Amino acid sequence: MFGRAPKKSDNTKYYGILGVSKNASQDDLKKAYRKAAIKNHPDKGGDPEKFKELAQAYEVLSDPEKREIYDQYGEDALKEGMGGGGGGHDPFDIFQSFFGGNPFGGGGSSRGRRQRRGEDVMHPLKVSLEDLYNGTSKKLSLSRNVICSKCKGKGSKSGASMKCAGCQGSGMKVSIRHLGPSMIQQMQHPCNECKGTGESINDKDRCPQCKGDKVVGEKKVLEVIVEKGMQNGQRITFPGEADEAPDTVTGDIVFVLQQKEHLKFKRKGDDLFVEHTLTLTEALCGFQFILTHLDNRQLLIKSQPGEVIKPAHLILLAVYVVPITSVELNCESAPIMKVLIVFLVQYADQFKAINDEGMPMYQRPFMRGKLYIHFTVDFPESLTVEQCKALEAVLPPRPSLQMSEMELDECEETTLHDVNIEEEMRRKQQQAQEAYDEDEEMPGGAQRVQCAQQ
Ligand SMILES: [Zn+2]
Ligand SMILES: [Zn+2]
Repeated sequence: MFGRAPKKSDNTKYYGILGVSKNASQDDLKKAYRKAAIKNHPDKGGDPEKFKELAQAYEVLSDPEKREIYDQYGEDALKEGMGGGGGGHDPFDIFQSFFGGNPFGGGGSSRGRRQRRGEDVMHPLKVSLEDLYNGTSKKLSLSRNVICSKCKGKGSKSGASMKCAGCQGSGMKVSIRHLGPSMIQQMQHPCNECKGTGESINDKDRCPQCKGDKVVGEKKVLEVIVEKGMQNGQRITFPGEADEAPDTVTGDIVFVLQQKEHLKFKRKGDDLFVEHTLTLTEALCGFQFILTHLDNRQLLIKSQPGEVIKPAHLILLAVYVVPITSVELNCESAPIMKVLIVFLVQYADQFKAINDEGMPMYQRPFMRGKLYIHFTVDFPESLTVEQCKALEAVLPPRPSLQMSEMELDECEETTLHDVNIEEEMRRKQQQAQEAYDEDEEMPGGAQRVQCAQQ
C-alpha cells in the first residue's frame, strides 16, 4: 500500500490540538475532545476549521492502530494509508457519533446536514366493509431492525472502525472482465467484504450483541386504528417506525387499507348499494323485508301502499368513445392505444334510497351517505291459461284484443328469439374494433409491439 518508505513528519500536532500529552489515556482524549468540540461547535458560534481539526485529531488518536501509525510516522503516513484522502470522516459525523445524538437538544442539527432517509415500509392491511363502517383497531406484530443498544450503532466495543481494506472505504469494488483480445468490461458492485459500508471492524472488537451488524432485530406490536368511514387504499402512517440504520433518518411504516369484497353491500364513496329481488306479486302488490345493516341493526324496508316497483329496463342514452392515450399507459412512444367505450345507460325506476344509512363520513362519523336499494323483479317463467284469465280480469285489457280479424289477416307472422343484449353489443363492438385495427396495421402496429416489450 505504501509506495515508498514513509518519511517521518510531524507527530505532535494532534496532541496539541486536543491539548493533551503524548501519553494521554483514551479517557483523557475523550474528555479533551468532549470539552473542546462543544466549545468550538459551529452551531454554537465556534470556528468550523478548529472544529474540523479537533474531529480529525480525535478520530486518529482514539483509534489505537491509527494512533500507532501517527506516533511512528506522523500525519503524512496516515494520509497515504487512508488512500490519499487524508482527513477521513465528516467532523459532524464524528461529533454526533461521539455524543450519540445532538447534545444541544432539539431535533437534529440546525445545519441541515445531508442525512440519508431510510425507506418507508408499506404493508397492505385487509379490512372488511364492517370494519370501515364501525371502525376498529388491529394489533399487528412486526419485526424491524433497531440500532444496537450495546454499541449505539457502532458495531464495535471500542466505537472504532477502520476503512475496509477491500474497497479502501468506498464501499464499491471494480472488477474487470475480458470480453475479447482488446475488449474489457468494467463493472462496479458493492464490496463483499464490508457489504458496501466501507468500514471494517476488527474481529476482537466486534460488539457481542449485534456481532458488528450495528442493528438488531426487534419485535414490535403496532396498533392500527381504522377509523369510521376510511376508504379503500387510504394510508395509515407510523412515522419513524421502519428499520433503523446508522446515520439514517428512519422511514415510516405505512399501512394501506384494502377493503375485502362484501357479499351484500357495495360501496361507492360514502354511499352503499344493495341488491334486492322482488317477486312479481311483491312488485305489484307491495313488499316488506328486513335488511341487516353492517352494524347488525335490522332495517325494516317496505313499499308505500299501492306503489308498484317496475322491473329494470335499460335505456341507452349515449355512447362515448374515449381514447386511452400513451400518458395513461406510461408508454411514451405509443400512439392512441385503445379506445374506451362508455355506455351511458339509465336504469328506470328500480332504485330507491334511504337517507343517512350509507357509510359514515371519514372524521365526520355523524354524517352519512345514502343506502341505495336496487330492485330486480323476478317474473314467472310461464303462466297457465287459467292464470292469464285471472290476471286479465283485474289488469287493464290487452291492446291486441282490439285488433280486427281483417287487420290481422293482412299481417306477416314473425318469430321472436331470445337474445343476450350485452353479449350481442360486445360482439358488435369487437367486430368494429377489428376492422379499425386492420386499417391501422401500419405503422401503428409496429409501435404497439415495441411498447409492449418495455
Ligand atoms: Zn452492537
Ligand atoms: Zn469494503
